[in-house]
Amino acid sequence: MPRPLLIATRNRHKTGEIAALLGGAFRIEDLAFHPEIPEVEETGATFAENAALKAVTVSRYSGGLVLADDSGLEVDALGGAPGVRSARFAGEKATDCQNLELLLQKLEGKTARTARFRCVIAIADSGKLVTTFDGACEGRIIDAPRGQDGFGYDPVFIPEGREETFAELPGEVKNAMSHRGKAMALALEWLRNGSF
Ligand code: IMP
Repeated sequence: MPRPLLIATRNRHKTGEIAALLGGAFRIEDLAFHPEIPEVEETGATFAENAALKAVTVSRYSGGLVLADDSGLEVDALGGAPGVRSARFAGEKATDCQNLELLLQKLEGKTARTARFRCVIAIADSGKLVTTFDGACEGRIIDAPRGQDGFGYDPVFIPEGREETFAELPGEVKNAMSHRGKAMALALEWLRNGSF
């Protein structure tokens, strides 16, 4: 009987992606199966703190193996902002579109446009942090959105070595080079080789 792995998300798309990558090695569940587990507030100062906070808190409730991630965009000309505030850059309930507009406004007239997406995946078991994995994708911010795919800041981010934005690249191309793809590849290798 495969061991359960709880993904600390209510995003079914994320759960489906991880389940497909892990094959039958784990019985994948997410928080949609666990309405009794409350939303974890992302109060950490770093991606690693937030990912660990989510994984450990959820694992305290479930008692078992939990995978959580936290991600965002760091823009050098803004001192690393929006960073851990990427989802709520323009306010607590801001939409992707409002966040992206604010970013472009803050970068108006600036020629230094380097930036990176970062993702940290944390794994906890029995309410304790077990390990974390980091992924980053370097690139730059353009001055007007391009492309229809993806989400968040994808339409204004061009990864190093490409001319298209993340919103113009096919999903599988983005996943192979993205911060989340890299961190997830490390986490999956660890899970597959581990003694779980
Ligand atoms: P979270 O990891 O779900 O908390 O995501 C944080 C926020 O970072 C998202 O709401 C997006 O604004 C941004 N973000 C994280 N990863 C990506 C990505 O791959 N593309 C675009 N935006 C992203």
